[in-house]
Amino acid sequence: MTLLSELQQAVHGEVRFDAGSRALYATDGSNYRQPPIGVVIPRTTDDVVRAVAICREHGAPIFGRGGGTSLAGQCCNNAVCFDLSKYLNRVLDIDGTRRIGRVEPGVILDDLRHAAQQQGLTFGPDPSTHNHCTLGGMIGNNSCGVHSVMSQFYGPGPRTSDNVDWLDILTYDGTRMRVGATSPDELAGLTARDDRIGDIYRRLKALADRYESKIRTGMPNIPRRISGYNLTALLPEHGFNVAHALVGSESTCVLVLEASVHLIPNPKARSLIVLGYPSVFEAADHIPEVMRHQPIGCEGMDDLLVKDIESIGYEEQTLSVLPAGQGWLLVEFGGDTKADADKRARALQDALKGDPHAPAMKLFDDEAEERKVWKVREAGLGATAHVERARPTWEGWEDSAVPPERLGEYLRAFRRLLEKHQLEGDLYGHFGQGCVHTRINFDLETVDGIRTYRSFVEEAADIVVSLGGSLSGEHGDGQSRGELLPKMYGPELMQAFHEFKTIWDPDWKMNPGKVLKPYRLDENLRLGTAYDPPHVRTHFYFANDAGSFAKESLRCVGIGECRRLEEGTMCPSFRVTREEMHSTRGRARLLFEMLKGDPLTGGWQDEHVKEALDLCLACKGCKGDCPVSVDMATYKAEFLSHYYEKHRRPLTAYSFGLIHYWARLGSLMPGLVNAITQTPGLSAIAKLMSGMSPHRAVPRFAPFTFKDWFHSRSARTHTRGRVILWPDTFNNHFHPHTAIAAVNVLERAGFGVVVPREPMCCGRPLYDYGMLPTARRWLMHILRTLRTEIDQGAPVVGLEPSCVAVFRDEMTQLLPDHEGAKRLARQTFTLAEFLNAHGFHYPTLDRKAIVHGHCHHKAVMKLDDERQAVQAMHLDANVLDNGCCGMAGSFGFERDHFDISMKVAEHELLPKLRQAPDEALVVADGFSCRTQIEQATGRRALHLAEVIELGLRS
Ligand SMILES: Cc1cc2nc3c(=O)[nH]c(=O)nc-3n(C[C@H](O)[C@H](O)[C@H](O)COP(=O)(O)OP(=O)(O)OC[C@H]3O[C@@H](n4cnc5c(N)ncnc54)[C@H](O)[C@@H]3O)c2cc1C
Repeated sequence: MTLLSELQQAVHGEVRFDAGSRALYATDGSNYRQPPIGVVIPRTTDDVVRAVAICREHGAPIFGRGGGTSLAGQCCNNAVCFDLSKYLNRVLDIDGTRRIGRVEPGVILDDLRHAAQQQGLTFGPDPSTHNHCTLGGMIGNNSCGVHSVMSQFYGPGPRTSDNVDWLDILTYDGTRMRVGATSPDELAGLTARDDRIGDIYRRLKALADRYESKIRTGMPNIPRRISGYNLTALLPEHGFNVAHALVGSESTCVLVLEASVHLIPNPKARSLIVLGYPSVFEAADHIPEVMRHQPIGCEGMDDLLVKDIESIGYEEQTLSVLPAGQGWLLVEFGGDTKADADKRARALQDALKGDPHAPAMKLFDDEAEERKVWKVREAGLGATAHVERARPTWEGWEDSAVPPERLGEYLRAFRRLLEKHQLEGDLYGHFGQGCVHTRINFDLETVDGIRTYRSFVEEAADIVVSLGGSLSGEHGDGQSRGELLPKMYGPELMQAFHEFKTIWDPDWKMNPGKVLKPYRLDENLRLGTAYDPPHVRTHFYFANDAGSFAKESLRCVGIGECRRLEEGTMCPSFRVTREEMHSTRGRARLLFEMLKGDPLTGGWQDEHVKEALDLCLACKGCKGDCPVSVDMATYKAEFLSHYYEKHRRPLTAYSFGLIHYWARLGSLMPGLVNAITQTPGLSAIAKLMSGMSPHRAVPRFAPFTFKDWFHSRSARTHTRGRVILWPDTFNNHFHPHTAIAAVNVLERAGFGVVVPREPMCCGRPLYDYGMLPTARRWLMHILRTLRTEIDQGAPVVGLEPSCVAVFRDEMTQLLPDHEGAKRLARQTFTLAEFLNAHGFHYPTLDRKAIVHGHCHHKAVMKLDDERQAVQAMHLDANVLDNGCCGMAGSFGFERDHFDISMKVAEHELLPKLRQAPDEALVVADGFSCRTQIEQATGRRALHLAEVIELGLRS
């Protein structure tokens, strides 16, 4: 039997060796790319054990994977990939008394932290990827984070290794054992065993004895030594801790099946003080005096980072909330109360005041401002990938660490090195522990560029080693540092590492080519000199990437932010399936692979890409939430337009995509159509014919259209100019009361409302089926029809957020050179935007409300104006800006998508609605959101226009 068929028989989870899955897992967050042999997604630890045994029988190399956010290439390999994140992700126990947590390897760090928080505890090391990285991956990499400082001062130590209690591990040869600290008695017992476990312990003991003095002298004693194997843990004073020695071994020695970790008290209150210095170098010089005050976090950043983050619009106006300076330290203090934490921050402030070179200081008391500052710092490694530089920026030298007291010296030398090689990079990181982050604009596509990359990292390694530092301060060695390890450790310790690896993995089948006997740091590059994607013709103009779809497909840098399970919208389908294929990253990677053409060979007709995109709700959540603005809804529309050049479109493309036509037809005889669609037997036939789910109710046609109502009225006078109210298909035919309310509100505001008579549609439903030539035609029709008004600057108010989003987003990408399109994009507003801009006096309404933001609204227009409007009305409102309703236009109506649609809704929106009191108003501007809410809960949601009208009436 083949490896695949044996695995398929033995494993209860999934086994995938198809080209799509191999392409999907071909890379991690790094610059490297190696499609795996195949992917195993085990359901249980027994699955893992069985699958490893089968791989062993076939001699197939293996490696583990959690969130796949590694930056040094240790999580992609030409081996069998064990994705442990989908099923093995439970927090098994939190023992508050012993301050211990027990987890499966695929647990997301934040899930552990939430569970620990119930008992006032937390896990110290917290990578910026905390909302989607896994404990297995953190153990693999020996991760750290902002609050490693907290676990340094108030816990067992800064790194994940320090915070591990014991590990349940599996070796490639099938040995399963629990390892941790080993007392002399235990060690004596273990080394006396006559089995593989005895052999492992005997050899570990011999290794520790043989290299003891070199381990003591040759492994820098700094908070962030991550490079190499953690052999100091085997010294007697560290309790011969085999678990600690294995943390950071990056799947090259064992797979972790379960972990017990130390938890530390979580301060009840925190205070942030930011210190502004003339430069990042001076900020670094002052680390020792700041750290004497034992903060729980001490981060640094330069002005370039702040400016870069602002330039891409990820976070705005940060400079205005920071104290004066061009280099900052973000120092966080904890306490039992806010006053307590503030007191500690003030003590630092008082101590620094006396210095003639005292920094500018600001103790933050505004949570929103604090969040903004943290967001900029945390976003660094991801968001600065595509800033205004000649080339994108890359990892490769992104987490080196030196003794904190030598940080200023290191940063100066590092900046000089960048200048020498004519490279650029922002400087920021965990300065309190001497760890520096940066993404550098390496050229990884040409011979010269790659040569420069190599020279740069080799010289940077020399500087770090000369200062007594570590090549990696938290991300691990993988492939990008493996080759450089001899510089840091010399031959004797390298030999010790080799022996350590051989004890665990005598045949070197675990993650081969990573850390030891490594691939060269400049091979297996995702780009490389052979990178030559085809120049494909596209319907959309991808303005962020000079129109190039190939460059656009490189936009995703693998941060994996789309794998988080809470906050924001991105990515609703991943939150339900927990499948990499259904994350924004997975889809983006498949599009990159599609252009690359190996192992995916189908081009625009590739079924793997089609399958991955099928569950994309086109909610644009990624466009709003992704730090590098991956816009999957647009990519999906582009892909489908080409895919359907050679395939027949499904029925739903015509029933839902062309809803504008059907709605016009239906409105000629709304009574008859409703009689058919609302009568059980007949409606079942209608649903069958249209591809609608039998579990959905067909929306009722209104007895009259909004346009009929509007044009039957007599002319009105106005005092403040004219505004075009966009009569979208849904409000016009199904919910005319919404548009009527908007007319009343706009007229009350003094405007003369104009509603075009000509039938028009922005074409939003067409995008979901890739009907882009039709969408373009419809948009051209709108621009021709409204040309005079648009040229005269008439504002257009749209009630349906997705229509406003089309005018502001898709239209400018489909018609990039059309001046009228640019004008219409500038002149189109949501109702709240328009009213706020014209100083509307909102009526007050003493009601509770729950406001659900449409995903396109959140992504393109943002909810700020909506929020301002409900505040102005004095509504006691809970504005939900997380999660998607799951309907997403026609997505949730479709037979094949009903289940996923409901699961998406259950993730956030429906539970919140069930908790809301009956008398609370439910506000949702999107027609599909209102329909989902009504069909799932029986509650009728109102458009903001109706809520304002209600206020005006009462
Ligand atoms: C934008 C960005 C910011 C980051 N910020 C930080 C930061 O602040 N601090 C920090 O420390 N890191 C940071 N990282 C790096 C990375 O997120 C962390 O190392 C994280 O802990 C990795 O977790 P993961 O689940 O994604 O691991 P993966 O990438 O899936 O795996 C990491 C390593 O562990 C191995 N592995 C996975 N599961 C197992 C298992 N069960 N048994 C044995 N080996 C296993 C893998 O083979 C791999 O070698 C950042 C990365 C990005 C992209």
